[in-house]
Amino acid sequence: SVAIVWFRRDLRLADNPALTEACKRHDQVLPVYIHAPDDEGAWKAGGASRWWLHRSLDQLGRSLAQHKAHLHVAQGTGADVLARLVKATGAEAVYWNRCYEPRAIKRDAAIKKALRGAGMVAESFSASLWREPWQVATQQGEPYRVFTPFWRNLRTQIQPDCPLSIPLMSSVKAAGDVPLETLGLMPGIRWHEGLDDTWQPGERGAHEALELFIDDALKGYERLRDLPARHGTSRLSPHLHFGEVSPRQIHWILHERTQQGIARRRPDLEPFLRELGWREFAHHLLYHFPKTPREPFQPSFTGFPWADDHDGALRRWQQGRTGIPIVDAGMRELWRTGWMHNRVRMIVASFLTKNLRLHWHHGARWFWDTLVDADLANNTLGWQWVAGSGADAAPYFRVFNPVTQAKKFDPEGEYLRRWLPELADAPLPLLHEPWKDPALLDRTGYPAPLVDLGESREAALAAYQAMRRQR
Ligand code: FAD
Repeated sequence: SVAIVWFRRDLRLADNPALTEACKRHDQVLPVYIHAPDDEGAWKAGGASRWWLHRSLDQLGRSLAQHKAHLHVAQGTGADVLARLVKATGAEAVYWNRCYEPRAIKRDAAIKKALRGAGMVAESFSASLWREPWQVATQQGEPYRVFTPFWRNLRTQIQPDCPLSIPLMSSVKAAGDVPLETLGLMPGIRWHEGLDDTWQPGERGAHEALELFIDDALKGYERLRDLPARHGTSRLSPHLHFGEVSPRQIHWILHERTQQGIARRRPDLEPFLRELGWREFAHHLLYHFPKTPREPFQPSFTGFPWADDHDGALRRWQQGRTGIPIVDAGMRELWRTGWMHNRVRMIVASFLTKNLRLHWHHGARWFWDTLVDADLANNTLGWQWVAGSGADAAPYFRVFNPVTQAKKFDPEGEYLRRWLPELADAPLPLLHEPWKDPALLDRTGYPAPLVDLGESREAALAAYQAMRRQR
């Protein structure tokens, strides 16, 4: 019998329960990827994600070919393409791994119902989280809204479990396969050169990134993870988003390494697992509170007096021309590499939502289009956290001072010099506050600050007080 394996955000062969089950229960499989932007509504993949997807699908196709299987690439809605393929192959079953975005949940439920209604087997599996969002609940059976108790609960539920290996497979082909190039995933402009230089999408690239992290950065992770100039974090976020590696695999591999006598690295394992815990928390929140990509988690923020976009402020923030070095360095790193260090994401987001008082939606949208790891759950959590409106968020009145932050986390200015070449020769104190020497700005063309940091902070706090008074 034939089973269709519907690849979505699980672009790997190892530790892939849908693929493994299909190969175990059926004689032949049809591995399929369906490009279905119409199924994604307001959250169609952005430019950087589409680039990644193209590269990752290319790798998946090659890996399948090495296992004598063929990746069928199709375009249309999930429901239509699957119906066509069931008919064409006489498949008895369709298997996939679950996604947690509200639109995907709705679509998948409808497809499952239709397939089962037609007498077929339709089954979904858990492949991208340690635990399903409904498996972690308070004693009252409610979803958690605060990270620490969520993590305490989840941590007791997880141990290093041996991941699934790549199954033996035999595949069928179907008509209607389209070349990857025709999906139009690659950007029209040559903006992706920086992405090509930085990343290796695909399952192999994910494992190489993990090994590099274990060798270079796991030891000292807790101390170094906040320094943007260092390769101090794993850079696994896009690989995790596209499911090229699973949390279970990461946990198992880290556990194995620490067992192999690298025990001195152990203290840094827990802080790293905790970050993966934030990812789980973000998915847990999106699942239980599906409106949060648009609406504030805390309803009291609904009437917040966001400012209008004056003087092209949003554009200057996007282009890394705000005149605040750490903000500009981060935004340029993002544009060039499709990624930004977490500490800097918090700083640029605070600057946008507090100093410029622009709605976090603007920032979330820009990140959506430019991040290779753009992820509805993590991005929503990150922006709502910084804006102060999220679950377990930083309080609104805690406004990051970008100069203090830069001096603390990039004390030698290494990160600033890397991304702001026009300031590379500036002496250290001025590198952090170039506006203190107007001649430097004149000479280098680096802009004067878009806003006064002190005044804009006061204005943000006043807006917050006004919102509270309205309640
Ligand atoms: P590491 O420090 O190596 O962490 C390992 C993994 O844990 C990451 O790959 C990621 O999957 C997860 N993780 C780490 N920190 C967080 C966090 N704060 N929230 C959720 N998961 C986390 N992350 C995304 O994956 N996609 C996004 O679209 C995204 N948008 C963000 C927007 C803002 C405003 C902020 C403040 C943060 C955002 N993050 C997002 C979270 C975080 O910045 C990135 O996950 C992290 O920088 C990725 O780098 P890394 O893989 O080296 O992380």
